Amino acid sequence: MKDQNKKQISDRQRRFATRLLHFGGEIDGATGASSMPIYQASTFHHRDINDPPPFDYSRSGNPTRDALEQYIAVLEGGAGGFAFASGMAAISTAFMLFSSGDHVIVTEDVYGGTYRFLTTILNRMNIATTFVDMTDLDRVKAALQPNTKAVFLETPSNPTLKITDIEAVATWAKSHGLLTLLDNTFMTPYHQRPIELGVDIVLHSATKFLGGHSDVLAGLAVAGSESLGRRLKQLQNGMGTVLSVQESWLLMRGMKTLEARMAHSEQSARKLAAWLAEHPNIVKVYYPGLEDHPGRAIHEKQSSGYGAVVSFDVGSGEKAKQVLGKVQIPLVAVSLGAVESILSYPAMMSHAAMPREVRLERGIGDGLLRFSVGLEHIGDLIDDLSQALQD
Ligand SMILES: *Cc1c(COP(=O)(O)O)cnc(C)c1O
Repeated sequence: MKDQNKKQISDRQRRFATRLLHFGGEIDGATGASSMPIYQASTFHHRDINDPPPFDYSRSGNPTRDALEQYIAVLEGGAGGFAFASGMAAISTAFMLFSSGDHVIVTEDVYGGTYRFLTTILNRMNIATTFVDMTDLDRVKAALQPNTKAVFLETPSNPTLKITDIEAVATWAKSHGLLTLLDNTFMTPYHQRPIELGVDIVLHSATKFLGGHSDVLAGLAVAGSESLGRRLKQLQNGMGTVLSVQESWLLMRGMKTLEARMAHSEQSARKLAAWLAEHPNIVKVYYPGLEDHPGRAIHEKQSSGYGAVVSFDVGSGEKAKQVLGKVQIPLVAVSLGAVESILSYPAMMSHAAMPREVRLERGIGDGLLRFSVGLEHIGDLIDDLSQALQD
């Protein structure tokens, strides 16, 4: 174990693409196997009762999950990583850092599942939330209360890809003794590393780009400091929201190609966004890489790319349904971040529970579609959308 730790430290000085393959835990310490084995065991034998083994029970720790947790900590540049049964398990467990009577400021277009957790479960624990438009720092500041303990960010947001200035919010939060938590699912550590910008805890639905193959449900959390890491570890073990070993292994397998997948999909997404912006049947395109995106400059300051998600408005619900019915290549589904393209319809999928007026106010119209660009040839994706959009 000691030698592995040494390897991890040297790995951190290497570039991202190299760290993806050589993060320190990729080789089995016991046998030298090229892939960390799936340690399918719930408990571990104490050979000598006076010298307990490094792992004793798989909820508290398992070598396979441990390798994954080390992996995400190295990629995000954090002090400790933690793997959970889903993105929501990671997010809900992190919120257990707070206590009855606390208040949290949350971005208004937070992921729907997080919104539901905060407004139907955490509210019953007497933990209050104020939702604000975080593209405007003054609104974040105005939401501060004497009992505020944290700020929860998501940037770019879903599905209209609004941008929050991470460093500005984190710096302000720190000056008031607040923790900053950020859901980095859309960008992944390949494009955006929030801990380097002052964020305390990074969260992921690893179900999306990190897993990358629409076959694993998983969540990850990374703590920026050792002390926060200890608190997250206590919560993960205490709540038992851990990721299984099979899923831990599958997730690591997917993550090895993160840069290759993200780089390819992002290049295609840029082309798709540019093509959509010129299309006569498209009312509006949302993509941080477009010239007219209001958050473009801030996004470029804090991220190395624009990501693989493009949202666009086709003008009406009728037209949106036409496109969903006529496309041949993408999966028509919720979720995103996979090798195959996924086309979602927020009004009837992710945001169906939101009252229509609120939804329209947030820019999520009946004609809005969200395209998660996969690894297909971009020419074919454009040809397919072109035929689906035809009057
Ligand atoms: C999907 C998603 C989640 C929830 O993750 P699950 O793995 O589905 O529990 C959280 N945040 C964002 C931004 C997501 O896209």
